[in-house]
Amino acid sequence: MSSFFSQTLQRSITVEGRGLHSNALCRVTIHPTDQPTGLRFRHAASGVEIRALAGKVGDLSLATTLEQDGVRFATVEHLLSALMGLGVDHALIEVSGEELPILDGSAAPWVEAILGVGLREIPDVVRRSIRVLKPVEVRSGDKWIKVEPYPGLRLRYTIDFDHPAIGRQSRELTLTPEKYQRELASARTFCMERDIEFMRSRGLALGGSLENAVVFGPKGPLNDSLRYQDEAVRHKMLDLVGDLALLGAPLQGLVSAHAAGHAMHVALVKALLDDPSAWSWSAVEPIKANRHFPVGLQAMPA
Ligand SMILES: [Zn+2]
Repeated sequence: MSSFFSQTLQRSITVEGRGLHSNALCRVTIHPTDQPTGLRFRHAASGVEIRALAGKVGDLSLATTLEQDGVRFATVEHLLSALMGLGVDHALIEVSGEELPILDGSAAPWVEAILGVGLREIPDVVRRSIRVLKPVEVRSGDKWIKVEPYPGLRLRYTIDFDHPAIGRQSRELTLTPEKYQRELASARTFCMERDIEFMRSRGLALGGSLENAVVFGPKGPLNDSLRYQDEAVRHKMLDLVGDLALLGAPLQGLVSAHAAGHAMHVALVKALLDDPSAWSWSAVEPIKANRHFPVGLQAMPA
């Protein structure tokens, strides 16, 4: 979030894999662009383009889906999270199928691919962020999420699962590309063993396995190990970063969430955008800019 100018990738990258829910193979090529058009998805076969914005969100039941003109892109949140977390403002994301690859269930493979080519500034395109001016909140029963003014992007997340292997987990951090990479990017998506049969019966999670998700059984994770002791709440924060990308610009604010998920994340984004008195455009202060970062940031070993 520290660059004065907008950023894009140095070169195109291609990533392939299967979708978590459909199990269909999908190829994604992310192209750099000098045009300040935000993060845009393009359906390779039809050429239909969908900008990653909250107004384009369709289904939100288990992942974030963008829809327009009969084209849909499902499970976009981990790629959007990696792009937002690393500070990529503008890119064209060409997709061969309807669901993005789940890879290892985290954003780490996307981060590795993006940092493998590195980022560059777009000359003369100043980065604009959305600065929160007053609190905005969304509630649903005992679940809630709110955003309030803060000079940066700070995330505070609590989950409280009625499951002994997860329970209550809380984490808070001020997001920078380094912290995103170190603290959030590797946290994998998760589910309960008891929910798998129900998901499969609805035709979901057909590509799910211990290779791309943490599965919590009654006595703990069925996977060999966790990447973080509180991997679950970190993954919720990873998802939140991806859903905040649907604002269409970096956010300056403190986001606090309790037991939220994709639907509430997106509801907050819409509620904020719908209240013009709650935010304003803000250029990143030149004095805070470090124009060399994160261009030189290297991919961490896996
Ligand atoms: Zn996720």
